Amino acid sequence: IDREAREISKKVSFRWSKMAEAIAWPEKRPYMMHYDGHRNRIDRIVRPHETEVMEKEIFSEALFSSKTSPWTKLIKMYLIYQNGEACVACPITCTEGMVAILERYADNSELKRILQHCQEGIDGEFAIGAQYISEIQGGSDIPANLLEAVNEDGQWKLYGTKFFCSATHADYSMVTAKPQGSEKVALFVVPSWLPGNKEKEIRNGYTIDRIKWKMGTSELTTGELTFNGAVAYEVGPLDKGVANVVGIVLSYSRLTVGLSAAAFMTRAVREATRYVQFREAFGLKIGNFPLVMGQLQDIQRTARRTTAGAFKLYRSVIEQGGLGNASRQGQTLEEKKEAFNIRELIMLQKIAASYDSTDVIRTAMSLFGGHGIMEDFSVLPRLYRDSAVNELWEGPRNVLLMQIHRDLQKASEWYKPEEFVRNILAGGNSEVVDKLAAEMAEIVAYPNLLQADEETIRMSMRWDKFCHEFSHAYQDIALSEVEKD
Ligand SMILES: Cc1cc2nc3c(=O)[nH]c(=O)nc-3n(C[C@H](O)[C@H](O)[C@H](O)COP(=O)(O)OP(=O)(O)OC[C@H]3O[C@@H](n4cnc5c(N)ncnc54)[C@H](O)[C@@H]3O)c2cc1C
Repeated sequence: IDREAREISKKVSFRWSKMAEAIAWPEKRPYMMHYDGHRNRIDRIVRPHETEVMEKEIFSEALFSSKTSPWTKLIKMYLIYQNGEACVACPITCTEGMVAILERYADNSELKRILQHCQEGIDGEFAIGAQYISEIQGGSDIPANLLEAVNEDGQWKLYGTKFFCSATHADYSMVTAKPQGSEKVALFVVPSWLPGNKEKEIRNGYTIDRIKWKMGTSELTTGELTFNGAVAYEVGPLDKGVANVVGIVLSYSRLTVGLSAAAFMTRAVREATRYVQFREAFGLKIGNFPLVMGQLQDIQRTARRTTAGAFKLYRSVIEQGGLGNASRQGQTLEEKKEAFNIRELIMLQKIAASYDSTDVIRTAMSLFGGHGIMEDFSVLPRLYRDSAVNELWEGPRNVLLMQIHRDLQKASEWYKPEEFVRNILAGGNSEVVDKLAAEMAEIVAYPNLLQADEETIRMSMRWDKFCHEFSHAYQDIALSEVEKD
C-alpha cells in the first residue's frame, strides 16, 4: 500500500494538481449545450479537456474493482482529495455508493451490467455514478420526495423534477422516487443514456434544465433535472428506499466528506507550514512569531487528528465488510452494536470534520496574509469554498444532529448511551470518557429536541457542542494510537 501510495502521489502532486488548478479558472467553468446543430436536444455538459483527461486517468485506477484492496482505495482517495473537489471527489464517492448498493442488490442483467461497468469497467471505460435525491421542496426531508415512478408494462419510468443533481455528466444515477400510489420512497438506478444512445447524445427521458451557479465545487456541475419517462431499474425492496439510500448511498458520501475534510486540511496545513518558513516580516521569518507558531500548531493538530479519526473509522467500515453489510440476517448483538457505532460515527465525523476543515483552511489563509485569498497564489481559496459545500451536502449539521439524537433514543433499549460512549472511546482518558458518557445519557434522556421552548433550545445547543466534543475525543484516541505506533 505504501508503494502504491507513493506511485499515485507523484501523479496527484504534479500532473493532476496542475490540471485541478487549470480547470479552476472561471474561463474554464463547465457549461451546457442544450441543442446540437440539427436542433436535437442533447443537454451536453461541456467540460475542459483537462477535466476529461484527469477523470479518465483517476477512474482508470479501478478504485472499486474487486481486485483493488480497500486500503489501496482509501489511501488513493485520501491523496486525490488533497486537490479539492476538481470534478472528481463527488463522482468518486457517488460511484462508491452505487457499487456498494448494487453489490448487495444487483439481481438482474441490467443491474449486473451497470455494476460491472462501474466496478471493473467495460472495454477499459469505467462508468461514473451520481445520486439525485434532493427536490426543490426538500433536500433533507427525503420522505417528502414527489418524483413519481410509474410502472408501464413492467418497466419503471420516472416523472417529475430533481433540484440538486451533481456529477450531471455521470453515466448512471441513483434516484429516489415514489411508486405511483405509494407514500414510501423507493430507490432506482437511471442510466443517463440507454444502451447505444450515448454516442448519439440521446438522453434517457430527462432534460437538464439548468446548471447551478455555486460558491464552491465549481468545476463540478450541479444541475436541475426534469424526468419525463426516464427508464429506471428498481434497487432493493420498493419500500426500503429511504433506509437503503441513507444507510448505504448517503453514508458512503458522508464517510467521504470526513475523509476529504481530512485531506483538505492536510493540504492546507502543508502549504501554510512551508510558507511561514520562507516569508519574512519585520526582519524575521514569520514562522518565528509565537502567534504564528501557535496557530500553526493548532491547525497541524486538527489536521492530524481528523486524518487519524477518518482512517480509524474507515478501518471499522472495512472490517465490517463495507456499509452494504451493516444489517444482515443472523447478526449477533455485538455486531449490531458495531454497525450502530459506525453509522453514528459517520454522521459525527461528517459534522465535526467538515466544520473544522473550513476553520483550518481559513486560519491557513490568514497565515498567508493578503496572498491567502489570491486565487492564483495557492489552492487555499478553492479548498475553502469546497469545504463550505462539504458542510452542507450529504446532510447539513442540524439534520444529522437530530438524527443521531433520535437514533440513540431508539436504540437505548438494547444499547445504552453510556455504553455507546464507552465503546466508541475505548482506550481514552477515563475522566473524559466518564464525563462524556454521563452527559450523553442526560441529553439523550431529554424526550425530544423539537419543542420550541427555551429549555429545548438550551438542550439542543448543548447537544450540538457535545457532539463536536465527542467527535474530537474519538479523533484524539485515533491520533494517540497512531503516535504510539
Ligand atoms: C453544491 C451542492 C451540490 C449538491 N448536490 C446534490 C446531489 O447531487 N444530489 C442530491 O440529492 N442533493 C444534492 N445537494 C443537496 C443537498 O444534499 C441538500 O442541500 C441538503 O441535503 C440540505 O437540504 P436543503 O437544501 O433542502 O436544506 P433544508 O433541508 O431546507 O435545510 C435548511 C436548514 O434547516 C435545517 N434543518 C432541516 N431539517 C431540520 C431538522 N429536522 N431539525 C433541525 N434543523 C433542520 C438544516 O440543517 C439547514 O440548516 C447538493 C447541495 C449542494 C450545496
